[in-house]
Amino acid sequence: MSFEFELLARDPNSRARAGIFHTPHGPVPTPVFAPVGTAATVKALSPRDLADLGVKLLLSNSYHLYLRPGDELVRDQGGLHRFMAWDGPILTDSGGFQVFSLGESRQVDADGATFRSHIDGSLHRFTPERVMRIQENLGADIVMCLDECPEPHDRAYNEVALARTHVWAERCRASHLRPDQALFGIVQGGIFPDLRTASAGFLTGLDFPGYAIGGLSVGESKEEMHAMLDVVLPLLPETKPRYLMGVGAPEDLVNAVLRGVDIFDCVLPTRLGRNGAALVRGGRLNLRNARYAQDPSPIDPQCDCYTCRHFGRAYLRHLALSNEILGHHLISLHNVYFLVDLARQMRASILARTFAPFATDYLAAYPLPANERDVA
Ligand SMILES: [Zn+2]
Repeated sequence: MSFEFELLARDPNSRARAGIFHTPHGPVPTPVFAPVGTAATVKALSPRDLADLGVKLLLSNSYHLYLRPGDELVRDQGGLHRFMAWDGPILTDSGGFQVFSLGESRQVDADGATFRSHIDGSLHRFTPERVMRIQENLGADIVMCLDECPEPHDRAYNEVALARTHVWAERCRASHLRPDQALFGIVQGGIFPDLRTASAGFLTGLDFPGYAIGGLSVGESKEEMHAMLDVVLPLLPETKPRYLMGVGAPEDLVNAVLRGVDIFDCVLPTRLGRNGAALVRGGRLNLRNARYAQDPSPIDPQCDCYTCRHFGRAYLRHLALSNEILGHHLISLHNVYFLVDLARQMRASILARTFAPFATDYLAAYPLPANERDVA
């Protein structure tokens, strides 16, 4: 089974690139934004909606599916693609991020992590081998090594966690059996350039079909995120896809593509949608705000999504204030489209060799991180 990454174009003025990652469920054109279907559903959107929006890749969470309904049940129902009726490419995470976010109710050791379910308090254990079996049962096209994502500024803890993450990557690599799944290694190391460098070196030595960058957008500043991307991305092979985990703010996507990232995922568009907030160029519209009570205009007059073509802010505000399901649906639809379309625009401009002016123009609508104001 081949997971070829076709590099179609490189931007002459940055590290941005456009390509195609081939998977058993179809090609993923990159750069790409993947919405998150935590429990095998992108909240408030059907697979038909996602296809209509131009979604090319979905993410689902192993931790949640392992606990409910259970990875073996999903396997017995024909795997995640059939279970959720999405025939396109799917990526699952390892579950590590959720487990390490559980705080007091988990314990990490050299061999894995023991934790209590957030649903019923029952006791569970993840090891590298266990999360490989879970992800093989779920059956996504792209699967992730178990890694530890520590607080990014704690040097001593990052050293310990990184050593564990590397041993776990070797164990995941050795125990992963399905040839129709691409297993990605995850670069960690907090905000420390030497740890990030060591991590990229160690993982590329294991020769994964793709590489993720974890532990960013978890409390560090934008400047620190950009600095780590500038350290890590030149160390990753050009011929493999690079995935920045959990990043979904529009300006972060553009800044990361400039630095050579291909794949993104984030709950942001659907979470905002359920809270009545819409992504627009330069920021967000809080549709619950009284100023929209009599505003008949769409969220974004430039947007050609279904929501913007048919509904005004006054109506969307009414739905949001009434907590109507349709409000969650329509605003999530716009938000997912906004990010999928941004990735598509970036890809088109890289292919047309016009990405530098596109990025400059796009980022002009967003405030710059303090130490990058002078150089842009
Ligand atoms: Zn729209």
